[in-house]
Amino acid sequence: MQLEEDHQGPHINGKHLRPESLMMSYGYNPEWSEMAVKAPIYQTSTFVFKNAEEGKAFFELAYGLREKNAEEQLGLIYSRLNNPDLEILENRLRFWDGAEDAAVFASGMAAISTTLLALLKPGDVILHSEPIYGGSDYYIKNILPKFGIQSIGFQASATAEEVSQLLDASGVADKLAMVYVETPANPTNHLVDIEACAALAKKHSTPDKKVVVAVDNTFLGPVFSHPLKHGADLVLYSATKYIGGHSDLIAGACAGSADLMKAVKGMRTFTGSMASPWTGWMLMRSLETLKIRMEAQSRGAETVAAYLKEHPKVEKIYYLGDLAHNPHQQAIYEKQCSAAGSMIAFDLKGGEAEAFRFLNSLKLIKLAVSLGGTESLAEHPASMTHSDICLADRAKMGIGEGMVRISVGIEHPDDIISDIEQALTKV
Ligand SMILES: *Cc1c(COP(=O)(O)O)cnc(C)c1O
Repeated sequence: MQLEEDHQGPHINGKHLRPESLMMSYGYNPEWSEMAVKAPIYQTSTFVFKNAEEGKAFFELAYGLREKNAEEQLGLIYSRLNNPDLEILENRLRFWDGAEDAAVFASGMAAISTTLLALLKPGDVILHSEPIYGGSDYYIKNILPKFGIQSIGFQASATAEEVSQLLDASGVADKLAMVYVETPANPTNHLVDIEACAALAKKHSTPDKKVVVAVDNTFLGPVFSHPLKHGADLVLYSATKYIGGHSDLIAGACAGSADLMKAVKGMRTFTGSMASPWTGWMLMRSLETLKIRMEAQSRGAETVAAYLKEHPKVEKIYYLGDLAHNPHQQAIYEKQCSAAGSMIAFDLKGGEAEAFRFLNSLKLIKLAVSLGGTESLAEHPASMTHSDICLADRAKMGIGEGMVRISVGIEHPDDIISDIEQALTKV
């Protein structure tokens, strides 16, 4: 038996199913493979056509040489264009964000670079929040200018009016093509108001130019934040982090309307930045436990944050579950986040020496960059993930020498706290 489906997705007697209910088997037919309950790895570079006419018809659709007939599906051609593991995965992934389509990539940077290349052209301006992931920052500030694309950065903590004024003062507001946002910002957890960015993009759109809002939702998504519901056009992921969730793969994703995704997937075909069948298969495995992992990690982080906040050696914590002191940020949190997630940063009293003594003393928590995996990881943003940002800019972003960032995993929170407690005695 098959689930019935309408434009909103699969349903039972008109009741639409939640994403977590669809991650185990949606979009895969066991008859395709010896009745195996799980989709196999289609580890193949190319696919056999039944006859030459079929090959011709598949290429006509893939290269947009003619319109698709009502019943016609894009046939399998070559694994840079399409592969069953990626197609099944993409059809599942889109449900989390309520997107019409999704694309998976070889890395988060592949997703971001391919998407920007697909939607920007020489003369365009991209307005982006700061701080953003180091790789994205480098791509926007050092690679895009080679193609005549200019960038304007705004602080994640700026108000909508300040961002609008900054853009107007630039003298190139009429060239705006994209608003690129990372929220929460890494590592300070600063939130950016997506609705306000969508309003700004709308204001600068014209009948023949739509300003696109793209949101890197790696930190809270796709479970606790859904940017498309707040007016974003595209949502981007490093699937290496929570979506993959086991620190055993590198991947990325982009999701949005069928129209925009057509452009993104078209560019992916020509940059060859798609994920491999094996990575696609691993991600299907990961999606089955995505929600329970993120919920467990978020609950654990709440306990860990409460402990850190009260510790005399901790100066300040940066955690989405602790925003009462900042009503502006609290209001954005209530509007666009459904849980605080599991990223915590904190300032130790002192500086680098104190932070290093703490990191070097950890026993259960591993000292490594990356985040979102089942194991807890800790790192020092000033000398590691954010070391290429100059001191003055780091200070502006609130990234100090005593700051430690923790990605809370699924270990028992009391055990994580025991480790933090013993490491803090060494400081
Ligand atoms: C890790 C990360 C990226 C880059 O993803 P890769 O999979 O490492 O290429 C982009 N954005 C954010 C927020 C990240 O944390």
